[in-house]
Amino acid sequence: MSGPDQSPATTRELSGLVCLVTGASSGIGRATALELGRRGAEVALLARSKDKLDSAAAAVQEFGRKVLAIPADVSRSQDVKNAVDQVAAHFGKIDVLVNNAGTTRDNLLLRMSEEEWDEVVNTNLKSAYLLSKAVARIFLRQKGGRIINITSVVGLIGNPGQANYAASKGGLIALTFTLAKELSSRGILVNAVAPGFIETPMTVSLPEAARAAALGTIPLARFGKPEEIAQVVAFLAGPGASYINGTVIRVDGGLGI
Ligand code: NAP
Repeated sequence: MSGPDQSPATTRELSGLVCLVTGASSGIGRATALELGRRGAEVALLARSKDKLDSAAAAVQEFGRKVLAIPADVSRSQDVKNAVDQVAAHFGKIDVLVNNAGTTRDNLLLRMSEEEWDEVVNTNLKSAYLLSKAVARIFLRQKGGRIINITSVVGLIGNPGQANYAASKGGLIALTFTLAKELSSRGILVNAVAPGFIETPMTVSLPEAARAAALGTIPLARFGKPEEIAQVVAFLAGPGASYINGTVIRVDGGLGI
């Protein structure tokens, strides 16, 4: 099977939309920023590493899109506030928020430090609360918007050694359901995408034995590509997803069925 289409899009289904993607310097977030740009959107990219962020922004710009790269730590409320203000001032609006930034600090429960717990939960879950709150104020004024949370199958089925990560991703699913109920009467749709094992810097560092064990649990017998998540996010951002709300879409090759 050939990979996802990387050619210039023939339709510009996201033309005119402004999308804010967190964790856009690497992996799934970078691929998502590119796919949104390929489909016509203007893209604001957030992450901490300026160099990688600038490189991702330059790649989106090659599609002829306006971009804005903002170095920011999504777990810090002041960073989030400044970043959202900057995006709104630069583009005049925000239409889609993709809460993608995430991290892991794996350990078994009895060895897991409070610092490991806090770093993962603050980066993966508190960030989504901070960003959704800041962006929802803008969506309410605009009478519409989309929030797409990148959770994980681990948030649905758990994983030994990842109590912090699984709790953060399960929390993100509950946040998705709740915000969908709170905000959809105002035209704001909230959904989540739950990737399985995807080839990114987050998973390449796994020990070979862990990779082999993970592979054995995937009916499609391969890891996914970041572009295969980006396709689903771009669909959720677009006109075809106008009646999808409060849903978690698993993109995992059948893992956990
Ligand atoms: P990745 O390549 O390591 O990318 C993580 C991104 O998050 C980077 O851009 C990183 O940029 C950013 N980030 C981390 N901490 C941040 C912070 N405090 N503030 C701002 N940005 C921060 O990993 P990935 O695999 O693409 O992961 C993307 C999302 O998919 C995560 O939420 C992850 O949990 C989820 N996911 C991944 C998989 C998988 O198998 N790869 C599976 C399920 C779910 P900086 O370091 O520059 O800040």
